[in-house]
Amino acid sequence: ESGYTLVTKGHLTVVAELGFQPFEYFEGNSTTPVGFDVDLITEIAKRLNLEVTYLPNQKFDTLVPTIKQGGKADVAIAGITITDERSQEVDFTTSYLDSNQSLVVKSGSTETEQTLNDASKKIVVQTGTSGEDWAKENLPNATIVSVDDVAAAMAGVQTGLYDAMVIDLPVASNLISTSYSDLTIAKEIPTGEQYGIAVSKDNPALTEAINKVLADMEKDGTMTALKTKWFGS
Ligand code: GLN
Repeated sequence: ESGYTLVTKGHLTVVAELGFQPFEYFEGNSTTPVGFDVDLITEIAKRLNLEVTYLPNQKFDTLVPTIKQGGKADVAIAGITITDERSQEVDFTTSYLDSNQSLVVKSGSTETEQTLNDASKKIVVQTGTSGEDWAKENLPNATIVSVDDVAAAMAGVQTGLYDAMVIDLPVASNLISTSYSDLTIAKEIPTGEQYGIAVSKDNPALTEAINKVLADMEKDGTMTALKTKWFGS
């Protein structure tokens, strides 16, 4: 007996925000999520003899509340930064990836962190993210606009609706190289974040089981292979 509870027997029910390339997103018109987190959770489920089931896509700021509330999903995976605030609400597994923030602007823009901290500037962020927290704290004079959809935010920087976006660096790098060649990273922001998988505080045996799989994946090279697949070298 595993000791953990599951929303649906035999299934690992996952809730995510599926617009966070390359972690969890849809390729083209496909309705099957792909990405680093998707491969990771698929491998974890496989090693626990479970099948992955996704809940319909949710807004990022609803993921931790959904896990806390219980009864709907077993885990949330969405490039979620482990924070003290979120750790009051849910448990996190061992971190599986280090991350930082970035300041994204139009190519050729001369904006800097200093010039953006001005009442005339609009900074877009994703609602409920660590990027939003960073922007509010470090660009207090600017207007911070919070939106749910990363693609809409990036498009808004392209059209000049916003002067910059604050977003996780690996996502900015990936989006710029795949679909937003007219945007650029003005600054890498070393926030020293770590991503973890969120699990209900009522289900510590599941967190333990996933931590065991994560440790095994580190040891047997699966984690390195996954990082090479999605981030190169
Ligand atoms: N890592 C960031 C956070 O946890 C952003 C995550 C996301 O937008 N999916 O707040």
